[in-house]
Amino acid sequence: MAKSPMLISILGATGSIGQSTLDVISQHPDMFSVFALTGHSNMVQLAKDIDRFKPRFAVVPSVERLNELKQRISYVGCEILVGTQALIDVASAPEVDIVMAAIVGAAGLESSLAAAKSGKRLLLANKESLVVAGALLMNAVDEHNALLLPIDSEHNAIFQCLPADRTHRGVESILLTASGGPLVALSHQELEVVTPEQAIAHPNWSMGRKISVDSASLMNKGLELIEACWLFDVQPEDIEVVVHPQSVIHSMVRYVDGSVIAQLGAPDMRTPIAYGLAYPDRMNSGAQKLSFTDTLNLQFAAPDRDRFSCLRLAEQSMTIGGTMPAILNAVNEVTVDCFLNGIIGFMDIPRVNEQVMDAMISEPVESIEQLIDVDMRARNLARSKIKAG
Ligand code: NAD
Ligand code: MG
Repeated sequence: MAKSPMLISILGATGSIGQSTLDVISQHPDMFSVFALTGHSNMVQLAKDIDRFKPRFAVVPSVERLNELKQRISYVGCEILVGTQALIDVASAPEVDIVMAAIVGAAGLESSLAAAKSGKRLLLANKESLVVAGALLMNAVDEHNALLLPIDSEHNAIFQCLPADRTHRGVESILLTASGGPLVALSHQELEVVTPEQAIAHPNWSMGRKISVDSASLMNKGLELIEACWLFDVQPEDIEVVVHPQSVIHSMVRYVDGSVIAQLGAPDMRTPIAYGLAYPDRMNSGAQKLSFTDTLNLQFAAPDRDRFSCLRLAEQSMTIGGTMPAILNAVNEVTVDCFLNGIIGFMDIPRVNEQVMDAMISEPVESIEQLIDVDMRARNLARSKIKAG
């Protein structure tokens, strides 16, 4: 008997990861059916995808967006819901088998947590969820028997390179690779005058604007280091960050016997997405095959934590622990947004991030409400520091 398709909710469907997920799903229509799509601002894209994938639900942030979306869709079988609670509802609905968490920023936290608490297969692209609330999210996964599969390419690679039973048996360290981003060769002075266009012009990956700036500042690698600590139950000192400009090796695991196991592939997020969707099987993703007859020319270098101090700040925040990673994540969302809007310069991102970290005290993590409050306080402080210049 043919298996019925698995039902998936895609949170952040209109974004870069959301669109890649729909692309992979469209190649396997017999295996997956869309339960819900969510979008925040791009109603043109959301309408197109509703007409094409015919989900039961769509989620938008406001009544204005709902009215705009209604005018654009022809499919009548989709119920449009509004607001944060609706994101939680489509992430935890009993019919849903898989949740793709691809909202950007701490805004994705509550829906990621809801998916974990409902025991779903959670494909986690939204790394900020783990940075802000790693302890709560990992506990929820354990307690409710959810299957958490990392979609971030590095973590997906590490997941594949670790022992199959996910123990630390024989593991010496994790080698987290970083492309270095588009600004890796610039001097301190040159970095001061970088424009948003320069910062988001990533050499290997096409991604959303926030993660592109994070990649350019190496904050992305810092957030990923924190993400890896939670996912794989290791400490910052167990992780070596290696700059690898070609983004062909997506990360590695070093074993005590001298072996290093790497996962390679073209820089295409459809590969980790297909891995998560098909796990433990494999299926076609549409990604280009890596050619070993063309010159791969793989290079490696150490990261520069002085020019790119966001990496150092992230490591420090994880070592301090408690709510400090949530504080850093919140201020960084504000500084990146202000940089993209021309309010501050590129090097003000690490400057303000550090000022806010210094000014706030880490508390032991207790609850989601506490983290939301800390997040709000860090954002307010960041805005007032920026205003004060
Ligand atoms: P994006 O900006 O392209 O898309 C973000 C999505 O989130 C959009 O659908 C948007 O509508 C939605 N969204 C934005 N603000 C929202 C809010 N306040 N409430 C609800 N929805 C909101 O971002 P992206 O590049 O697809 O990245 C998404 C997540 O995946 C990020 O956490 C990022 O770090 C992670 N990630 C992305 C890539 C990549 O290649 N793009 C790789 C690894 C990890
Ligand atoms: Mg990554």
